[in-house]
Amino acid sequence: KKRERNIRRMLKERLPGEIYSLLKSAGHQARDMGYQVYCVGGFVRDILLGRSNLDVDLVVEGDGIKFARALAEKLDARVREHQKFRTAVIICADGRKIDVATARLEYYEHPAALPMVELSSIKMDLYRRDFSINALAVHLNPQNMGRLVDFFGGQRDLKDKVIRVLHSLSFVEDPTRIVRAIRFEQRFGFRIGAQTEKLIKNALELNIFHQLSGSRIFHELQMIFEEDTPLPCLIRMENYGLLKHIHPMLKLSSNVKNILTETEKVINWFQLLYLEEKIDKWILYMLGLLNHINEVQAGIIMQRFNFSQKKTRHIFSLRSQINSAMSSISAWHQDQGKLSSLYFILNPLPLEGLLFLMARVQKEELRKYVSHYITHLRDIQPQISGRDLKKMGLTPGPEFGRILKELKAAQIDGVACDRQEQKEWVRQKIAEQSLQGGKEKRASGKN
Ligand code: ATP
Repeated sequence: KKRERNIRRMLKERLPGEIYSLLKSAGHQARDMGYQVYCVGGFVRDILLGRSNLDVDLVVEGDGIKFARALAEKLDARVREHQKFRTAVIICADGRKIDVATARLEYYEHPAALPMVELSSIKMDLYRRDFSINALAVHLNPQNMGRLVDFFGGQRDLKDKVIRVLHSLSFVEDPTRIVRAIRFEQRFGFRIGAQTEKLIKNALELNIFHQLSGSRIFHELQMIFEEDTPLPCLIRMENYGLLKHIHPMLKLSSNVKNILTETEKVINWFQLLYLEEKIDKWILYMLGLLNHINEVQAGIIMQRFNFSQKKTRHIFSLRSQINSAMSSISAWHQDQGKLSSLYFILNPLPLEGLLFLMARVQKEELRKYVSHYITHLRDIQPQISGRDLKKMGLTPGPEFGRILKELKAAQIDGVACDRQEQKEWVRQKIAEQSLQGGKEKRASGKN
């Protein structure tokens, strides 16, 4: 008989106190209701790997929704219920979310899950999961607290660093698992097992990707873009022929690889500097992947991904904004333009556009200017406000905006830095303008 492993002590040592006590509460609650409760999936995998993961996933043998309601009451939390799937999310006061699922036999009436009746519900629940390392559970009921449930050799595969599916139809059942296999392999430095690799190749030969909805493919791709180093995943996808299964034009030419490498560097640079500021990484990687592809084909690819019109338009508009910024900034550099002109070239670009521009410009000096814009110029605000202008005798109107814009330029160019200098600058401006009086109106914006 297999020796059972109990990881209660590990849970206590590795988890933040409040999560450990949450697991205990869940166990007590289940016992009181005559249910069994387990934590499962990535949460368990990451505890064993010693990686931080605060997304608690619970599976209940019993009524998951009733259980979630009762546990939420105990924790003073809210519940969102999904009757159709018999799942619920407990939303704690601090914003933490706990997923609760119901383990039920009827749920798995699928050809791949054969000897159904012989299996306990937690076993069935684990059997429908993607890989052995994600199919581990820990029993939480007080009597068994910490007992590791490992029906499919997950512990061994964690030790051997292998990604392995649970049965041979796994990828046919759900082709997105191919992308997931690659993602986990690269994230953990594991390798896809030999048999699993064969199954991937077979599945691809069956052309299963064609039937897969674009949104599901893109969802998995987006998860890859969220990894620390998406490029090795994309390379692996290309080597399996996966990218061209998605669309024949999706290729990692050396140009694209270079751009994606730079993109990765720029993202890391930015995230180190601005921990709090969120960026949509997928936008940058999409721009990179589509960089050498023309409008028409890029449109087809985005259609394949089921992008909404809005999303597609956003990518296209970024592409053209970036292109024109590229040429403007080169010209600006050649003409040795003022810093304020750089500001107005880059100002229309959203952050993702700026970062991609930084990855794309080849000249180091140009890249420095973009990074200078991001770190220094982007947040510059004049030291005086519209109210100050009013006090100085100006009437609100289009003139206001123009003066403030010019003032910003002056500030960026170091002509009027502090509040005092800026007030002085405005006074002078007003004087100049009244001198000009009713004469022909010249655009005051240039120089
Ligand atoms: P991550 O750290 O990326 O969040 P995770 O393992 O928690 O990894 P999720 O996508 O949140 O990944 O999925 C949670 C669990 O649900 C997985 O551990 C796995 O057991 C199961 N799962 C997710 N997607 C699939 C799938 N396509 N097929 C089978 N099981 C899946």
